[in-house]
Amino acid sequence: MALLELRNVSKHFGGVKAITDVNLQVPSGRITGLIGPNGAGKSTVVNLITGMFALSGGTILLDGTQIEKDGPDVVVRRGIARTFQNIRLLAEASVLANVMIGFHRLETVPVWSELLGLPASRRQTRQLEERGRALLDRFGIAQFADYPAGALAYGHQRRVEMARAVASDPAILLLDEPVAGMNDVEAGELGEVFRSLAASGMGLLLIEHNVRFVTSMCEEVNVLDTGKIIASGSAQEVMRSPAVIDAYLGSAEETA
Ligand code: ADP
Ligand code: MG
Repeated sequence: MALLELRNVSKHFGGVKAITDVNLQVPSGRITGLIGPNGAGKSTVVNLITGMFALSGGTILLDGTQIEKDGPDVVVRRGIARTFQNIRLLAEASVLANVMIGFHRLETVPVWSELLGLPASRRQTRQLEERGRALLDRFGIAQFADYPAGALAYGHQRRVEMARAVASDPAILLLDEPVAGMNDVEAGELGEVFRSLAASGMGLLLIEHNVRFVTSMCEEVNVLDTGKIIASGSAQEVMRSPAVIDAYLGSAEETA
């Protein structure tokens, strides 16, 4: 049972306070929501957790161990995976190859063995390929396994990114606006995948601009506005909060 905790986390860019004293918990086996208007600081939170940005203050703990000084590679090896708001795939490489990049954390056979084509590494490669195809199937994109990732439609590229993140077998998965630009049917399909990942014990942080999707997926929702958590609780609780109605729902209706 993993638990990711942010305690009084702050991040300043020069004089701009992007994140101020954020407290947040992402427990395993559940989908925790993080919503907020554009520019609220949601992606910055992910960049802080994954070691892409240094903190200006506070601490980040995974199962009680401080991880805020770890770089991105170490954070992944600790079992925290992410997707990006702006898709990052190897466009020329196949969909399957992109997903198999995610297996790196799990490799037990050293790279030189692979280069020499030793039997153990060939066997491992075959096994990983099978697992890669199974993951593609889970995300409904098995038929595209051998296509160049860049040739896929936007929504399908997002699925490839998610499959790659899941391939590293994370304890905690951070999803930065995973259903952005998708219709309700596609979002619903992915929602089912997220639920099954949580049911298998993974802790998910679901970041969304789409309030309806998050409230349908999460028991616990956190609302970020101008770098501060202004409400946390059940979807019903936070939606009733006057601060949330002011800061978020008003602007969401305008942009809807
Ligand atoms: P969200 O994901 O909620 O839309 P972001 O986390 O992307 O918001 O941005 C929060 C604030 O931090 C914005 O004001 C943004 O301009 C600022 N910010 C984010 N990343 C950087 C950076 N690398 N340098 C300077 N400012 C940044
Ligand atoms: Mg963002």
